[in-house]
Amino acid sequence: MSEKITFTPISYTGWDSLAHLLDEVNRFNVKKILVITDPFLKDIGLTNKVVDPLEAAGYVTEIYTDVVPEPPLAIGEKLVAYTRDHQFDMVIGVGGGSALDLTKLAGVLASHEGKVEDYLNLTGTKEITKKGLPKILIPTTSGTGSEVTNISVLSLETTKDVVAHDYLLADVAIVDPALTISLPPKVTAATGIDALTHAVEAYISKNASVVSDALALQAIRLISNSIRTAVSNGQDKQARTDMSYGSYLAGLAFFNAGVAGVHALAYPLGGQFHIAHGDSNAVLLPYVMGYIRQSCEKRMKDIYDAMGFSSVNLSQEEASYKCVAELKRLVEDVNIPSSLKGFDIQEDALESLTNDAVEQKRILARSPMTLLKEDIYKIYKAAFD
Ligand code: NAD
Repeated sequence: MSEKITFTPISYTGWDSLAHLLDEVNRFNVKKILVITDPFLKDIGLTNKVVDPLEAAGYVTEIYTDVVPEPPLAIGEKLVAYTRDHQFDMVIGVGGGSALDLTKLAGVLASHEGKVEDYLNLTGTKEITKKGLPKILIPTTSGTGSEVTNISVLSLETTKDVVAHDYLLADVAIVDPALTISLPPKVTAATGIDALTHAVEAYISKNASVVSDALALQAIRLISNSIRTAVSNGQDKQARTDMSYGSYLAGLAFFNAGVAGVHALAYPLGGQFHIAHGDSNAVLLPYVMGYIRQSCEKRMKDIYDAMGFSSVNLSQEEASYKCVAELKRLVEDVNIPSSLKGFDIQEDALESLTNDAVEQKRILARSPMTLLKEDIYKIYKAAFD
């Protein structure tokens, strides 16, 4: 059996890797650059770390800040229209997954016609045919891995959908942990568990390969070992560095192997209740893994070991139970509510959450255990109780 592995062409990782930005921009024959970021990052001066060296080198930059967390489709439509109207040569995304996803969308759809809606994965009718503008992606959270994936996630009325194509891949990703030092504990926790979920789901995915396994296990090691410190002491350079590498590796892993049940059930939580993507994944992670445990005991034993424990004297079954318990403990230790009630969700919402999750067929297909409608309801119910 052969496997296709896709990587972003160039990545810089590590502390102060942002220093490579100017050289990379110089490689492209560009003049006018749109920097897409969120208003908070502009206000705290983080965006200027990207813009100032470019301006000093004579590039014309414009900062676009109409970015909100978990961006709705309308925000994407507005940005794409703006990009089409203003003739940029390059787009640079600076921020969490929300800013980076919008940057990818703008960079590619600037050279297409029609609405963003036409290109959505579940309901769209148009094909992406052109690469569009060069894209440089600079994450400021350690979570989504968007800098190395080929999707843009958009919030719809009750769920989420993606625009997906390899043309959405960045030309250059710069993953500098120094940019994450200002992340508050709550966002560090949610985005960090998001990255852990990417690695765990990539590892148990039906599409996992030797390469994605290596990436996923190393991501699990780094994140499990550093997330508590990153949350309790955000200034810890080593913890921030480990989280940054962990989310980058997890992004590469899930881009190649895909995510599964946790994400399928998390999307409706984001869509219907506007819960941050990382929190949605975090609250569901132990329950989905607990439910599908029997279908992937050996893999969960490996995850347990990668989390820093030893399964040497345990059966696969015992280790898989302990893995679920440790995932739950990790979520609780970083102060994320461990039940849906903790997010003020009422029991009568479980039916509509289930109805939307069932629609995520492409994602659910990667689960090692088939998850039917009744299974999905049971998982939400367990997470509720
Ligand atoms: P985000 O981009 O929504 O940012 C969350 C908050 O953190 C914002 O208020 C932002 O201002 C703040 N923030 C970001 N960096 C900061 C910093 N360094 N210091 C202080 N504050 C900072 O959060 P996210 O979790 O990174 O992204 C979520 C989005 O990414 C969702 O829409 C989700 O669906 C999507 N996503 C995309 C992919 C992908 O592969 N494209 C994968 C997973 C999730």
